[in-house]
Amino acid sequence: MKVVGLTGNIGSGKTTVAHELERLGAEVIYADELAREARAALAPEICRAFPDACAEGRPDDRRLAQKVFADPAARRRLEAMIHPWVRRAVLQRLERLAQRETPPALVVLELPLLFETGWNPAPDGVLVVAAPDELRARRVAERSGLSLEEFRARDAAQLPQAEKVRRADWVIVNDGDLDALRAQVRRWYAEVVREGSA
Ligand code: ATP
Repeated sequence: MKVVGLTGNIGSGKTTVAHELERLGAEVIYADELAREARAALAPEICRAFPDACAEGRPDDRRLAQKVFADPAARRRLEAMIHPWVRRAVLQRLERLAQRETPPALVVLELPLLFETGWNPAPDGVLVVAAPDELRARRVAERSGLSLEEFRARDAAQLPQAEKVRRADWVIVNDGDLDALRAQVRRWYAEVVREGSA
């Protein structure tokens, strides 16, 4: 069972790549989904720390995001609550997959903050999805109505894209249309699964 980390900056196309890999047969673990579960599980703790980002005892994702992306100390505080929970959940899932009678050939960990959180144990390799800044800004504006200012604040909270590319084992440059992206993903998948079975 090969475990590959999938990361990239905001709006680079990680989730689109992950969905395509799933379609091709990879098992994908989405850290963002687990982070949502963590926010629900840790609601009392989060609301004690950030009462103005909560409504009826539950964190409001949009308000929480606004708060922490405007305040690096608050972001670190929230991440210190969420990340250990997410890490445990990921490791539990990996363990369950490895125990299957036929473990999947490829498990992909979609971890937006793989490098920033110093993820360990290190995966067998890291695939970075990158795209020009203006394209990423436009895509997230279209997807979620994020303003350019919000995009910049979130992007600045991450390691610079060029640094991620430098640390990557494989890079997918997502500067074409969706068909071009999917074709790159298919080539990458074929190569990595072939290597794994060699
Ligand atoms: P985030 O970090 O915000 O979660 P992400 O890296 O997971 O983003 P996606 O959600 O995959 O990125 O892509 C962002 C948006 O851009 C989505 O609406 C997606 O459909 C769109 N998109 C991604 N790649 C392309 C492309 N090559 N052409 C057109 N639209 C694209």
